[in-house]
Amino acid sequence: MSDKPKYYLTTPIYYTNGLPHIGHTYSTIVCDTIRRYKRMRGYDVVMTTGTDEHGVNVERAAKKAGVAESEFVAKMAVEWKALWDDLGIPSDEFIRTTDLKHAHTVQWLFRLCRENGFVYPGHYTGQYCIYDNAYVDVKPGENCPDCGRPTETVTEANYFFKLSAFQKPLLDWYAKHPDFIQPDSRRNEILSFVEGGLRDLSITRTSIRWGIPVPGEEPHVFYVWFDALTAYLSAVGGPNYEKLGFWPADVHIVGKDIIRFHTVYWPAFLMAAGLPLPKQVWAHGWFLMDAAKMSKSKGNVVTPRPIVGVLGMDALRYYLLRETVFGQDGNFSYDALVQRYNSDLANGLGNLASRTAAMIEKNGDGKIPKPAALQPQDTALATQAQAVIGEVLELYDSLTFSRVLEEMWSLIAATDKYLTSEHPWSLGDSDSDQQRRATILWTTAEVLRIATALTHPILPESATKVWSLLGQSGQPGSIALDRLKWGELAPGTPLGKSQALFPRIEKAEAIERMEAMENEPQKPVTAPAVAPAAVGAAAPQAAPEKIGIEDFAKVEMRVGQIKTAERIVGADKLLKLTVDIGTEVRQICAGIAQYYEPEKLIGRKVAVVVNLAPRKLRGVESNGMIIAASVGPEGRPVLAGFPDDDVEIGARLK
Ligand SMILES: [Zn+2]
Repeated sequence: MSDKPKYYLTTPIYYTNGLPHIGHTYSTIVCDTIRRYKRMRGYDVVMTTGTDEHGVNVERAAKKAGVAESEFVAKMAVEWKALWDDLGIPSDEFIRTTDLKHAHTVQWLFRLCRENGFVYPGHYTGQYCIYDNAYVDVKPGENCPDCGRPTETVTEANYFFKLSAFQKPLLDWYAKHPDFIQPDSRRNEILSFVEGGLRDLSITRTSIRWGIPVPGEEPHVFYVWFDALTAYLSAVGGPNYEKLGFWPADVHIVGKDIIRFHTVYWPAFLMAAGLPLPKQVWAHGWFLMDAAKMSKSKGNVVTPRPIVGVLGMDALRYYLLRETVFGQDGNFSYDALVQRYNSDLANGLGNLASRTAAMIEKNGDGKIPKPAALQPQDTALATQAQAVIGEVLELYDSLTFSRVLEEMWSLIAATDKYLTSEHPWSLGDSDSDQQRRATILWTTAEVLRIATALTHPILPESATKVWSLLGQSGQPGSIALDRLKWGELAPGTPLGKSQALFPRIEKAEAIERMEAMENEPQKPVTAPAVAPAAVGAAAPQAAPEKIGIEDFAKVEMRVGQIKTAERIVGADKLLKLTVDIGTEVRQICAGIAQYYEPEKLIGRKVAVVVNLAPRKLRGVESNGMIIAASVGPEGRPVLAGFPDDDVEIGARLK
């Protein structure tokens, strides 16, 4: 086990009814920047991201796509994970709320809250749209805002969390931990919300099927936040969090629209369970397009791949972190993005690096020169660079990324100015001129070395290129920032191969290319349909697209005979069966307990999918699937069977 101090940070657990846009990318880039920075400060860092895969919206999106929820979310999770990998910002832990370890953590948290007296059964009443299968936020008599149909007042049994009991403990916590909620504007907003009183919170539903079951309380499933927030803890050990040592989190990075859930509900759940609270929740703003929040319904969504394809990932990282003060809203525009790219990256850092390398090559042997006697202007630049190191580390610590980049770019501008006034290119061949040129070029290269180390958390790709251009060994990400200081660039080091850094690009052409890529129809999801961890109930599905016979042939179905059948404690829908399929006797779970008496099933012949990967249902292994019709609105299962007794056990269904 590493003896480094541990640091744990998280992006939001992104909801999977859609694909990532710039807003999600921003959260993840911020976390990746903090992660890289903390590693360079000597921490053992874990960054978690993941996908929130339960709930009504996923149920609906899956239905629309004509696939099972489990298949839908499996594909989504693959897409999300692939995007972060492609962008060079993979998480250390990728948690899916359909992971079995997550279900166990949620159930464990619920048990702790309940044992401590903070959970009670009650009833939830709201306006329900039968067509959309969901509660909608309207008054009785009003129509559904989604489909316009009449709503009904529905009351269902729920479990409630006693949030009202945590008003004082939360206010005490905020007072004792003034940095818990950042930035301050959000903190004030939350303080006044909590001071206004807290209402108990419904944390389970009986009207939704696609969720984590509440142990022993079927058909209750956990509802939204009790499920989703807990993913932060599931990712680093869940009930065994102490073993890994990453909980409590150092910071949750979230969008401002979900700050309340993270700073009120989440600490209250943890307090109720007697678990440690995260140290900080940082809410960033939104990226607006023409002053409107980006959203799929408005059709103004910008996604990262086109930008990265045309300008590179570092350009996107630079723009997002430079243009907007972290915590405030920002405006996204392609025009400003390309402007920043050309002026700050191509003409700024890129030009300084390639110019310096070219002058060192031309100076003679392509090695870092040895400085001679220093002039005051050399010392002034050295002093500025040394001061920038300290300032930038403080700015990183306070997540003031735009200021980090301002400081760095003022150092780059000062170095450009230094080169212009010292004009090493016009010095001659005399000994003193050669010495002077060597001093100027060494000083410039040393600024670049310092700048590369300090910008690496934000611009990892280009920092790596400049680092190897300067002939430095290893990766800039492994530099210990605590020990970074002026004057350590070793003379005589041969330069590395020069690489293209931020080639200039014509603005109109760049924008046209990015917009064209953005408007291309989304590629169909090509990800494999991963078998999900089965924690939710299986659901009957809308008709999918037609498949070829070869697809059907992949499913092997046989006639089986039920040998034994018994109920499963704590799972009132499931029966545990053993089924003879001709070649062997299998254990299979079937969700038919509410409609079939176990003893009456023995000897019955059924249709069995025999080549389904084994999975666990409520902790019981199921090796195959019994085919049943789903009848009526409640989905009553009716077993498919073979009344003709001559059918041989193990016969294949074709
Ligand atoms: Zn509706």
